[in-house]
Amino acid sequence: MALRTTDYLLGPVRLTDRHIEALFANIDGPDAKDREFVARLRHWCGVAGVDDANALSQMIWETDDMRAPRWNRDLNPAGIGITSDGTVQPFDLTTVDESARVQVQAIYAMVKKAWHPDVPMPDGARSWMDGKWLPKVRAANYPKGVDQVQDQHITYGDPRWPDATWAVDAAYMGHVERFNRYVPGIPDQRPAGTQTPPPPKEEPPVSAFPTEPNVNQPVIYRLTEDYGRFGISRDQMLTVRGNKFEGRWGARPVSVFCHVQDGVTPGSLSHWSIVDASSTVMIQRDGSILQVIDEDDGPWTNGDVNAPLQEAAWLIALGGNVNNWSLTIEAEADASNVLTAAEEDAVVWQIEDWALRYPEIMRRLIQATFGHYAVNSVSRAFCGRYVAGIDARLTAWLVDAGTTPEPKPAPKPISLYPAGMTPQLAKRFYELHGPLTFSWTSKEIGFDDTRSEVQSWLIRGAASIPEGGDWSQGRWPFLVDVVRRGRSNNVHVYQYSDGSVYPKIVRRDELAKAA
Ligand SMILES: [Zn+2]
Repeated sequence: MALRTTDYLLGPVRLTDRHIEALFANIDGPDAKDREFVARLRHWCGVAGVDDANALSQMIWETDDMRAPRWNRDLNPAGIGITSDGTVQPFDLTTVDESARVQVQAIYAMVKKAWHPDVPMPDGARSWMDGKWLPKVRAANYPKGVDQVQDQHITYGDPRWPDATWAVDAAYMGHVERFNRYVPGIPDQRPAGTQTPPPPKEEPPVSAFPTEPNVNQPVIYRLTEDYGRFGISRDQMLTVRGNKFEGRWGARPVSVFCHVQDGVTPGSLSHWSIVDASSTVMIQRDGSILQVIDEDDGPWTNGDVNAPLQEAAWLIALGGNVNNWSLTIEAEADASNVLTAAEEDAVVWQIEDWALRYPEIMRRLIQATFGHYAVNSVSRAFCGRYVAGIDARLTAWLVDAGTTPEPKPAPKPISLYPAGMTPQLAKRFYELHGPLTFSWTSKEIGFDDTRSEVQSWLIRGAASIPEGGDWSQGRWPFLVDVVRRGRSNNVHVYQYSDGSVYPKIVRRDELAKAA
């Protein structure tokens, strides 16, 4: 009669009111909130088929017997999203019912790699859970076969991923022993005397999305180690590796951008050490991949938004710089956009690998795979045209797995001005306090609809208008400041009255021209 480390994380509920009273008699001063939480946790465990004994045991351990500020102040039941004492909780929870739902979904997803459909994800936690927790449990390096209490403590096999499934803490499994002391007589999950657990029953797949690439993994180089092979010095490597938005400025990868280098990788790398450019990976004619910028950082590949196409509207409407929402590929090719067969295979493998690791990309894979021309149809009208062939191969991959891909919209330009809004009106909102002047620029910064930050502002504003509404129902923040950041002040950050920002990379060759 006990909770055991070999019990399954998923199982029927087994705690009774008598167990809960025993628990509360053993910890200091549980309050009404604590009692309400336990009731909600038991409820949602029942809905999702999550073992309530382990869930509550984990909660009691993680919150230091419900005394931790993380619990009493932030309502975080189990350190979710909190990697150290100094971490600010990355989402808000407003009720203990929300706390219970987040914990139940986190445990459920560890085993099922998906959310339980009947446990509503709290609005405040959705983007973090979708953007961080789900990719974590679906990552290629996530340990296989996680389904027992002790699996909450398994660390990832690949040493580059020093994470555990739940906690890296030598004392972590102590929560089981301690809980059994607080709450005697927990019914066994399996019949007494069972030494080895029966194999979990075969479950139908959680979705019809593909589960592995249909192309062999190519040779992968890393710029941090292999820079010499690509003809650049260590200093040049460090410079190129610095060409990024560190930490993506609050965004995350939801799209893939395909580019052509108009040259070969050694030449491009050498050029990038002089101008301000980079990409997540480069792909060579021999079919090898070179990892350049870490996926956690925004690469400097997509340049300026300039007369973007309708297909990119959803991405630009997310706000900020498109690079921060993107993983990028620079393929060796000239303006004809013809790749070698090995190179095309490597592009397909890379995008499939990303889709498998980033569920938001997988969910709308064809719409999320762009050629550069989609955000700059003027000066990059031919960059990434090979994406049409890649789309066809990704479509076949999805169809083989039983998924019907969403079609790409017709390639037509976005109309920048929504119904009823004239350029004069837009200018008035944008420059509510007049164009800004700064000592570091010779001209005033104001409304100019050929500039990327203004185009992004118009597209974002239009996206805020309810279906069928006119411009007056949209949100039109005004420009309040432009600050310079980065090496040689090359990142110009446009700041708006609603707190949003648009970081723009001004390439060093352009800065030199302007000076
Ligand atoms: Zn490009």
